[in-house]
Amino acid sequence: MSVTLPDLPYDYAALEPHISARTMKVHHDRHHQKYVDTLNDLIEGTRYDEMELERIVKESAKKDDESEIFNNAGQAWNHSLFWSSMTPKGGGAPADELADAIGQAFGSIDDFRESFKETATGTFGSSWTWLVLRNGKLAIEGTQNADSPLTSGGTPLLACDMWEHAYYLDYQNEKGKFVDAYLENLVDWSFALNRLRARPRAEA
Ligand code: MN
Repeated sequence: MSVTLPDLPYDYAALEPHISARTMKVHHDRHHQKYVDTLNDLIEGTRYDEMELERIVKESAKKDDESEIFNNAGQAWNHSLFWSSMTPKGGGAPADELADAIGQAFGSIDDFRESFKETATGTFGSSWTWLVLRNGKLAIEGTQNADSPLTSGGTPLLACDMWEHAYYLDYQNEKGKFVDAYLENLVDWSFALNRLRARPRAEA
């Protein structure tokens, strides 16, 4: 068994004009593919060979001698969540129990957006921004490089890729505009709601 590159859940051009087909093609077919290929080379013949990707991420985390495996596994997992966190005609506001949880944690959807953007634009270097369920509550967290809330017991509901390759072709250095587009036009609240409903029992 090896880790495979998942297809995008929509066409390359489906997120235009917010993210160009060119960005999606390079990002998915080259960056994401490379993480998957490198990971498969690294785990061949190791104890990780038969493991599910999410478990590889958790088990290789914070181990100095396995940082290369962790970086590639983390990036492979993070990108899969990122593609699914977006949808054409996304944005707007969440529904049902996710709307309640957002209200409890952040006050309002506008407060949520402001806080998410602050974390996304304020986390230094190559990073990810997450809506995460942690200890039964929603939180926004930023992580650097390949890290994610998975490695500290959180359940990510949404991911936003804040590595330069995610936005530079379309937005150059204006990463705030990329985050606005993600929040206002792309974010898939139904996906996040499904992940909230499917959360592990320990998070209930
Ligand atoms: Mn990326």
